[in-house]
Amino acid sequence: MSTSIDLKAATRTFLAQTEGHLATYLEGCVHCGACADACHFYVASGDPRHTPAYKLFPIAKAHRSHKFPFGWFGFARPIGERDLREWEELLFDTCTMCGRCTMICPMAIDIAAIVAGARRAFVAAGLGPPDLLAAADSSRDHGSPLGVTADKLRERIEWIADDNGVTIPLDAPKADVLLTLSSVETMKYPKSVAAMAKLLNHAGVSWTLSTKGYEATNFGYLAGKGDIAKTMVERIVTAAGSVGAKTVVIPECGHAYGVLRWSAAAMLGRPLPFQVLHISEFLARLKRDGKLRLTPFDEPMTYHDPCQVSRRGGATADARDVLSGFARNFREMTPTGDENWCCGGGGGVQAIERAAPLRHQVFKLKMDQVERTGAKTMVSACSNCRLTMDESKAHWQWQGGIDSLVEIVADHLVEAPRQSR
Ligand code: SF4
Ligand code: SF4
Repeated sequence: MSTSIDLKAATRTFLAQTEGHLATYLEGCVHCGACADACHFYVASGDPRHTPAYKLFPIAKAHRSHKFPFGWFGFARPIGERDLREWEELLFDTCTMCGRCTMICPMAIDIAAIVAGARRAFVAAGLGPPDLLAAADSSRDHGSPLGVTADKLRERIEWIADDNGVTIPLDAPKADVLLTLSSVETMKYPKSVAAMAKLLNHAGVSWTLSTKGYEATNFGYLAGKGDIAKTMVERIVTAAGSVGAKTVVIPECGHAYGVLRWSAAAMLGRPLPFQVLHISEFLARLKRDGKLRLTPFDEPMTYHDPCQVSRRGGATADARDVLSGFARNFREMTPTGDENWCCGGGGGVQAIERAAPLRHQVFKLKMDQVERTGAKTMVSACSNCRLTMDESKAHWQWQGGIDSLVEIVADHLVEAPRQSR
């Protein structure tokens, strides 16, 4: 947390801006504690501060005591840097905005949405985790949180295409489909980019990437920086418009899907001029249309649901539709689907270095889940989940396999790819 700011002024701004967001919680929470066991952070750490209801409690308490200084919460005491540090940790490091607690809450309190609002207020007050804020700024200034500029993208795409022997259209003048990328894939999992290209070419899709709008991740949204969130959305709208794409495909990235599919129109104040599909939804459609021909995968496999694609996104069935008949030894985890445990790195937590020890604790839940299925491979459809889990796998020296849906499917295409252009 920066100490060069006026903490009193920042606190005032934060409290003023969170009042509306906290009203639902303050009015609705009956302190039943039912949400505690729904949160992977609490289950993994056993720390009462990690229960969903507690994450907003100190802020709500400060609100009450400052609004009603002689009320039952006692006299208002000055809010210091220690309080702000605790609030920052609770809002940013210990909530992946996975929405699992909302499913359990008898009052249907959407803690994830309230945390998102409180994060915006925190950042508006000049506060917030520096690495997450820097990722958002890099997205605005360089095009992506990992500094993938348009020139860097051209360079990477040329290399990925050559290295994998696949055609990857970039800045085609016209295309039915605009494919976007997560810079996690572009920089850390380039085989995923090649896999998506192979699949789209194989199915004869008219598609392109665009240097006008290529980054699917939205760290503006995760960091609570509304202006950057909107800028990232506008870039994709511009890119889709410039090639006449009626469909924008989000790659293996959960929050990118959630933001563009469910929040972008509200950010812009108008409907999006295209449909938004996650790559698992798009592949499921191609498969239903008979455009994906696959050789079977016989090793025991399980699937990790990215929270923003399944529970929060509504596309729970699509990855399973893709795997159906192909993964002949598929085993579901318990719990699974809309109730699946989060990877621990969503909501920008992956980008917060100091949260790594807590993420590793959370991964123990996943290791246990996978081991109970007997699966050798766990696939996911989110590169952020994959990165989070790969880091924790290395931390624990876990022997289980972690793979990507698009890569495993692309590795089992029957025919030689049919190039679309
Ligand atoms: S949204 Fe997820 S991470 Fe956040 S408090 Fe609820 S269960 Fe925990
Ligand atoms: S389940 Fe809902 S009402 Fe109960 S403590 Fe949690 S947030 Fe409050």
